[in-house]
Amino acid sequence: MAISTATADRPAQSAAEETEALTPSEVERLRLDFPALHVKRNGKSLVYLDNAATSQKPKAVIERLDQYYRSENANVHRGMHYLSEVATAAYEDARKKVQRFLGIPLTCEVVFTRGTTEGINLVAQTYGRKNVGPDDEIIISAMEHHSNIVPWQMLCDEKGAKLRVVPVDDRGELVLDEYARLLNGRTKLVAVTHVSNALGTVNPVKEIIALAHAQGVPVLLDGAQATPHLPVNVQALDCDFYACSAHKMFGPTGIGVLYGKAEFLNRMPPYQGGGDMILSVTFEKTTYSGLPYKFEAGTPDIAGAIGLGEAVDYLEAIGMRRIAKYEHELTQYGTELLSSIDGVRIIGTAKEKAGVLSFTMESAHPHDIGQIFNDCGVAIRAGHHCAQPVMQRFGVPATARASLAFYNTKEDLDALAVAVHKVKEVFD
Ligand code: PMP
Repeated sequence: MAISTATADRPAQSAAEETEALTPSEVERLRLDFPALHVKRNGKSLVYLDNAATSQKPKAVIERLDQYYRSENANVHRGMHYLSEVATAAYEDARKKVQRFLGIPLTCEVVFTRGTTEGINLVAQTYGRKNVGPDDEIIISAMEHHSNIVPWQMLCDEKGAKLRVVPVDDRGELVLDEYARLLNGRTKLVAVTHVSNALGTVNPVKEIIALAHAQGVPVLLDGAQATPHLPVNVQALDCDFYACSAHKMFGPTGIGVLYGKAEFLNRMPPYQGGGDMILSVTFEKTTYSGLPYKFEAGTPDIAGAIGLGEAVDYLEAIGMRRIAKYEHELTQYGTELLSSIDGVRIIGTAKEKAGVLSFTMESAHPHDIGQIFNDCGVAIRAGHHCAQPVMQRFGVPATARASLAFYNTKEDLDALAVAVHKVKEVFD
């Protein structure tokens, strides 16, 4: 693991300066950890470039799930028996691993959810319903995934509040002057994505948070596309909420994390009622558990949380800085390849990008591109990527999107370029 270490006689450099990118031979070794990367189609391994939709899982995660169901399965926080103690310890240990991975100050600030979507809905339905009233405003951006648009729209409809949208420029970067103008005394929350799934833009979230905090406005970050690619430290960012999904981080589906500062979570009402989130229940009155259990009603995805814990161990052992650096090089390589092909338009050319190559072709609809890529054994996604407003912003109904992970290689991108040429052969 390559983590920056300052010594007494050597000043701390920025970790990025000190960190080496993963090497191609390391990546080759890491690829062996992922069985799905070796699935054959027509005798050839698939080229998997749909990581923004979901990532593949390393053996360590798959085997941890297997071990849990074989020898540790029981409900958590309830049974006074051996297996329940083992399951509870593993579940709570996973919470601590996530805490460390995201730089979360307190263990009780780690709430397990079903994923990013549920995390955002939780904040909208608890913090939002309690604090947002008629004519209040919520700021989002024009590049949000639907899961960071619709929950706020629903809340605004219910409360008579207004959604304000930070525009995106032609490169796919947020127009920060406009954002600063939108912030005002009626703003109750800013909810923006850390990294855009449709464009790959890494947003200047520290600046966005500082501007909001200067006006006393809390900030939620949608971290779904950041946590698989970048080192994330919520304490350093000083965000108030952060939501992410395990399945994009090489962990299982059905589990995710909502971080919230305890000062907010403590003042929020519960999201769902049920078992595990109460201290006592009578027909007259129910009292609720403390954090994080107040927000974890019902039997949680125990195996999923444990699998996520394993995934973050795996990522930490590689080093998120090394992953970020390697993926940056890979993204540049892919950008150059695609830009050199006539008739290809890259959508999203921000200075800071993480692992997404969204593009259109003059001659073919993105769905045709996806189809021909599939025939070539290259898995990409074609569509609006659950971000219809940003498609409208760029005047396209859809894009073809290749999205990277640290296990992708330059050869994968060469295969992408071959598939693009195939599309041209068919449609030009
Ligand atoms: N936000 C972004 C930026 C995403 O890319 C996604 C998943 N595509 C989500 C939110 C929703 O994540 P999930 O479906 O795991 O809840």
